[in-house]
Amino acid sequence: MARLDIKKYREDSEDFLSSLEKEYYLHFSGRKNTYEVEDIYRRSKLFNRENIDEIGKKLKERPQGKRYLYLLKFCIENFIESKTASIKEAVARDEASCRIEVDKRSVPLRYLEVLLSNEPDKVKRDGIEDKRNEKIEELLNPSLLRYWESLHRQAKHLGFNSYRDLFSYIKGEDFNETSEQMQELVAQTQNIYEKNFGLLMRQELELDFKGSRRSDLAYLKRAKGYDGFFGREYLIESFTDTLTQMGIGTPSQKNICFDVEQRENKSPRAFCAAVRIPQEIYLVIMPSGGQDDFEAFFHEGGHAQHFANVSPSLEFEYRCLGDNAVTEGFAFLMESLLGNIDWLTGFLGMDTHAAKSFTYFNALLKLWYCRRYAAKLKYELRLHDGSPIEGKQDDYVSILSESNLMSYDPETYLKDVDEGFYCTNYIRAWMFEAQFRQYLVKKFGSRWYSKKKAGDFLKEVWSYGQKYDVYEIISQLDHKMDVGYLIDSIKEIILSYKKL
Ligand SMILES: [Zn+2]
Repeated sequence: MARLDIKKYREDSEDFLSSLEKEYYLHFSGRKNTYEVEDIYRRSKLFNRENIDEIGKKLKERPQGKRYLYLLKFCIENFIESKTASIKEAVARDEASCRIEVDKRSVPLRYLEVLLSNEPDKVKRDGIEDKRNEKIEELLNPSLLRYWESLHRQAKHLGFNSYRDLFSYIKGEDFNETSEQMQELVAQTQNIYEKNFGLLMRQELELDFKGSRRSDLAYLKRAKGYDGFFGREYLIESFTDTLTQMGIGTPSQKNICFDVEQRENKSPRAFCAAVRIPQEIYLVIMPSGGQDDFEAFFHEGGHAQHFANVSPSLEFEYRCLGDNAVTEGFAFLMESLLGNIDWLTGFLGMDTHAAKSFTYFNALLKLWYCRRYAAKLKYELRLHDGSPIEGKQDDYVSILSESNLMSYDPETYLKDVDEGFYCTNYIRAWMFEAQFRQYLVKKFGSRWYSKKKAGDFLKEVWSYGQKYDVYEIISQLDHKMDVGYLIDSIKEIILSYKKL
C-alpha cells in the first residue's frame, strides 16, 4: 500500500474545509437554497480507516508531533461525520423548507426565534413554541434519532465505549472535570441567580420561574427597552471604530467580506464563515438593531478578526484545526465590550446610570447561558454515554430545567445538542476569556479596547491561530486556567449593582 502523501493530504484537507465552509456560507446567507455537504464528503476521499491508521502511525513516530495529533483528530471526526452526511443534509433540507402558520401568516421554521423575541404576549409565545415543538417532533426527530444513533455506532466501530469517550479522546479533554467545574459555578451562583434573575423576569415579563419556559428567554433577551442605544445604523460602525482605535481592521482590511444584504432565506442571526484562513472570511449579518443583534455581531466579529489575523505562513493544522475554544474565546472577548461600562458610555452614548443597569442585565444573561451550558454538558454526557437513546427526553427536561429554573420541552432533546461536544468549547472559552480579559485590564487598563498596544498584543496572539490551546495560552501569561475567574467576574457585576 502506498504511503500517505502527507503534504498532499494537508492541501486536500484545506480544500475540503474550504468547500464545506463555502457551502455553509452560501446556504445560510440565503444565496443558495440547498445545502449540499454529502457530495463534498464523497469527493474528498480523505476520511477512511487507512488514513486514520497512517496518521496515527506518524504520530507514534513523533510523540511531540502536535500537527499530527490535530490532523488525526480532524480525520477521525470527519470520518464519522461523513457517514452521516446524507442524514444531516436531509435534516437541513426539511428544516429550511418547513413553514408554520402563525397569525394566518406562513413563517419559516428558522424565523420563529425572531418572532418569539418580538412577541410580548406570553400566550402567543407559548402558542408559537408549541407549534414549533410539534413540527420538530414529527418532521425532524425521526431523522435526528437516526443521526445520533449512527454516530454512536461509528464511535463503537472505532473501538470506543461511547461517543462521549471518542470525543474525550479527540479533544484531549476530561469532560467530567469540565462538568464538575461548571457544577461548581451553578452551586456558587444559585442564590444570586434565583434572586436576581427571578426579579428580572418578574419586572420584564411579569413571570415567575414557575410557569416560565425556555422560549421566554428569547423575548427577555431582545430587551426592547434598550433599543434606543442599539440602533442598527451604529452596529457595524461601533465595531469597526473600536478596532480602528486598537489599530486593527481598518478599511484596508480586504480579507473580511461584510455581507449585509437582505435576503429571504438569510439567517437572522449573524455568523462568520472562514472559507480561507486568513484570506477569505465572511461576516454575515442582517442588521436589525437591539442589544441581542449587537451581541451576536460582536461575537462573530471577534471570530472574523481572529481568523483574519492568523499568519498566512502558519502550517495548515494551526491555521484551520486545533482548539476551537480559542476562537470562541476571542469571540467572547469582543462580545464582552457590551458588558463594559466605559465602552457603553464612550461608544453608544449611554449615561452612567443606563450603562450600569445594562451591564447588570448583561451579566444576568451571561449567567443564564453559563448555567444552561453547565446543564447541556451534563445532559450530553448522559445522551452519549453508550446506552440507548430511548427515554432520554426525561433527562433532558429535568437537567436543563433544574439549572435554568425555566421549563424545557422534551421535543428538543435531540436538536438542542451540539455536535462533537462543541458545548465544551463555549464553556472553556468563557473560562479562558474571563482570565484573558483580566490580563488585558491589568496590562492595558479597563479601556484596553482603545489602546494600540492592546491591539498589537491581540494581533500577535491571533497570528498563532489555534496552535496553542486555551490552557497553553493562559500558561504563557503565567497563569493557570481556573473557573473561579469566570464565577467572580459575573458575581462581581451582579452584586455591585445591588448595592447601588
Ligand atoms: Zn462563536
